[in-house]
Amino acid sequence: MSQNSNNKLDKNMKLMALSAIILLVLFLYTLYKSSEHIKTNSYYFGIVFLLFLLAFAIFAKIKQKKLQTFIKKNSNDKSFSQELDQAQESKEQISSNISAVNSTTTFKDVAGISEVKAELEEIVDFLNKPKKYFEFGVKLPKGVLLVGPPGVGKTLIARAVAGEAEVPFFYQSGASFVQIYVGMGAKKVRELFMKAKQSAPAIVFIDEIDAIGKKRGGKTNDERESTLNELLTQMDGFEGDSGVIVIAATNKIEVLDEALLRAGRFDRRVFLNLPNIEDRKKILELYLKGKHFEFDLDKLASLTSGFSSAALATLVNEALLNMIKRDAKVLNQSDIEVAKNKLEFGKKETLLLDEEQKEILAIYQASKAFITKSKVALLDQKVSTLDLVYPSYNQLLENIKRYLAGSIGVEVIKKQKYAINSYDIEQAYSLANKIVDEYKMAKDIEVLIEEVRNNLRTELSQNVTTIDRLKELMLKNEVIDTNEL
Ligand code: ADP
Repeated sequence: MSQNSNNKLDKNMKLMALSAIILLVLFLYTLYKSSEHIKTNSYYFGIVFLLFLLAFAIFAKIKQKKLQTFIKKNSNDKSFSQELDQAQESKEQISSNISAVNSTTTFKDVAGISEVKAELEEIVDFLNKPKKYFEFGVKLPKGVLLVGPPGVGKTLIARAVAGEAEVPFFYQSGASFVQIYVGMGAKKVRELFMKAKQSAPAIVFIDEIDAIGKKRGGKTNDERESTLNELLTQMDGFEGDSGVIVIAATNKIEVLDEALLRAGRFDRRVFLNLPNIEDRKKILELYLKGKHFEFDLDKLASLTSGFSSAALATLVNEALLNMIKRDAKVLNQSDIEVAKNKLEFGKKETLLLDEEQKEILAIYQASKAFITKSKVALLDQKVSTLDLVYPSYNQLLENIKRYLAGSIGVEVIKKQKYAINSYDIEQAYSLANKIVDEYKMAKDIEVLIEEVRNNLRTELSQNVTTIDRLKELMLKNEVIDTNEL
């Protein structure tokens, strides 16, 4: 019997005892107040009955365990068969849920993000002309992980890959694998891969893979773990030449289990950022194609920093709705304003930056570019670090410095601390932790971090003019290239 029904039984008994006590008190009180009006014995019967009820409740409470076993025995057959029915039902549901679609999306439907498209074109080519690759024994990655915030086109681009290659597209969200019954998620993974292999060449797309792919350990969840293990087994079980390519999407790569990121699994990663000014213009152009409009497109692209591609699509749609409401045929600035207001109030996930906030982010990113000496865009989230197998102590410190550069840059220029990118700080601390705990190169994490911070403060304060120049560049172009540093 479930925990739930045990609780219910316990609750019922408590309720019974409580009502008996209350009624008993009421009866005694009435008896005491108006004993001369009581002609019949019914009151005494009532009291006896209530005492009996109370005694029964106490007895039931004492014998609770035995009672529960008794009830369980009698209801067991029924609930077991019910569970079987439910399991059968969900099994059938799982089986019928997995099917491929023929994607009609192509790269033409994806505006901007040309670097991402270029990375995925190789996969399209492989799916179109596998022989070309087999001839030289080249194996393509089995898994591609698309990493980026919501609404930047991860699903869209995966569909476009399937559409361009004209292969079946199997879409599954990570959450759909997490079933109530242990083993069902794993079964679904097996079935998904079996069907994909049968229809190969094919694309399997797993959206929000973190739902099953989170780091193991800590609070265990048997169902999620068995599903993840099955996914790992399936990915190991087919060769790069089977024609099945798995594309997965996540917002946060850092929460994923390392086993998923190992060679032979999702070993290719493609990062997608919120669109930069050029991309935003291209996305707006795509959604405004064939429509008449009378507003400055460049200005709109510049004023929508922080909008995801999906938010831009919604913005145009809302503006068009307003135009229709006005009974007009030409989109104008007022439609855009109405749509922007709706989005600003309605959508929390849209990162909206006013001029001041944009400036703070620009200083953060400009400082990052200055310290790392690498290309940084306004909405970039990653930090370019030294990637070495055997880093020296100084190289490890350099990486901590790179993670802290943005926040110290803002502190130096704005003369106060701002809460911007906690992920960078986390990375700096996790590295400092490694230096102290794993490699025993230093004694204290805080001392280490403070030392790096102080060095950064000195270096950045000596270069305020450069940071300012870079900030202006960042505000204008939303990107700083290496030759501008
Ligand atoms: P994600 O999977 O990253 O959350 P989606 O691919 O689901 O984002 O994007 C949601 C919608 O936003 C798409 O259906 C499309 O209308 C629009 N969109 C996103 N990125 C682009 C893009 N690069 N070009 C055109 N439209 C886009």
